[in-house]
Amino acid sequence: MSDTTSFRPETLALHAGWRADPATGAVAPPIYQTTSYQFQDTGHAARLFALEEGGNIYTRIGNPTTGILENRIAALEGGVAAMAVASGQAATAFAVQNLANAGDNIVSGTDLYGGTWNLFANTLKAMGIEVRFVDPADPQAFARASDARTRAWYVETLPNPKLSVCPIDEIAAIGRPMGIPLIVDNTAAPLIARPFDHGAAIVVYSTTKYIGGHGTSIGGMIVDGGNFDWSAFPDRQPNLNTPDAGYHGAVWAEAAKPFGPIAYILRARTVLLRDLGAALSPFNAFQILQGLETLPLRMPRHCENALAVARYLGARKDVTAVIHPSVHSGIQAERAARIMTGGLGGLLGFELAGGKAAGNRFIDALKLFYHVANIGDARSLAIHPASTTHSQLSPEEQRATGINDGYVRLSIGLEHIDDILADLEQALDAAGG
Ligand code: PLP
Repeated sequence: MSDTTSFRPETLALHAGWRADPATGAVAPPIYQTTSYQFQDTGHAARLFALEEGGNIYTRIGNPTTGILENRIAALEGGVAAMAVASGQAATAFAVQNLANAGDNIVSGTDLYGGTWNLFANTLKAMGIEVRFVDPADPQAFARASDARTRAWYVETLPNPKLSVCPIDEIAAIGRPMGIPLIVDNTAAPLIARPFDHGAAIVVYSTTKYIGGHGTSIGGMIVDGGNFDWSAFPDRQPNLNTPDAGYHGAVWAEAAKPFGPIAYILRARTVLLRDLGAALSPFNAFQILQGLETLPLRMPRHCENALAVARYLGARKDVTAVIHPSVHSGIQAERAARIMTGGLGGLLGFELAGGKAAGNRFIDALKLFYHVANIGDARSLAIHPASTTHSQLSPEEQRATGINDGYVRLSIGLEHIDDILADLEQALDAAGG
């Protein structure tokens, strides 16, 4: 469908980026399970490779099924273009590597998914990209930690496990005049938070979570807001402003102009996806598209159920702390109200008076909840981060990301709330406080 700009999210999720298959009339997006594409003639092939014309070359670089998913997510997010990758981890790695090389640095909020923490603290470091960690609740800390080689700032909207909403708008506004774009991982808050409305330049997703929504397929997405003037900061952003030896000396900020404000995502595709190859499979793109179609229906239900669970746990004597945006106060509550305009999300944490041992007894007693290392499934999930997702972090690093030994994380699903609460109640009673 050509112009979908006036549609609301419910309609975009079903219609953006696709109408019907031109070859067969198929309404559901076909799975184009092909590696390569027949060129019309040698001139056509040469034009595609020279970026003089858009089109399919090879599925590592682009695929029609994956393209529908990319266009649909870009439309829903209010971005100009998107690029799918094989996982959320690949999305984060590429989002940073697209701007930062060995010798450069980025500044990141401490409140991160454990895998992102490891990528930043160890793997990117080994590649020569330094990640400087600051408290995201203090927006000025990002500027203080930056120098001439700082290429980007990175945060999560609704960082699990702390679940204190990131002041995206305040951080982005400080970085923009310095030529520093804000990259936002919005995995825990699709549709309910809109980072581009708050000044973010790039949004990344693990589509494995709410967007896919059914726990079937690993995937990731990078969305370009098209709202950052890369050419205005040639020294700060050399990857987009200096000739690229890997592409006939292309200067991406210039080369992208005929296609729109997509310099960032064009470089990510033509350089990183081409060379590092973390492409999403067309089958997974299809599965994630299926999930995306009902995302606007599912997110409000996740939020509603999680809020009910937060209230239930808050009333129990054996629960010493509930971690959910609804229990925050002061500036944290103001930030949540400003950023989480569509709901407070489906995640929550809590601590039991009996600490780690009681937490483990609780998880072992669950019958309806699954005990898995995932979030954002249609089903309710539980895990003990200190011994699983965050176990590779030191105790100090665990504290910095917001967990302690007794913390239990819940990802509240779409089941009937009475069934969710009944399972929690019997497991809490079995855990014995
Ligand atoms: N970002 C967040 C907030 C996550 O929770 C996760 C995974 O749990 C990731 C990124 C990484 O995504 P994936 O598992 O798809 O690589």
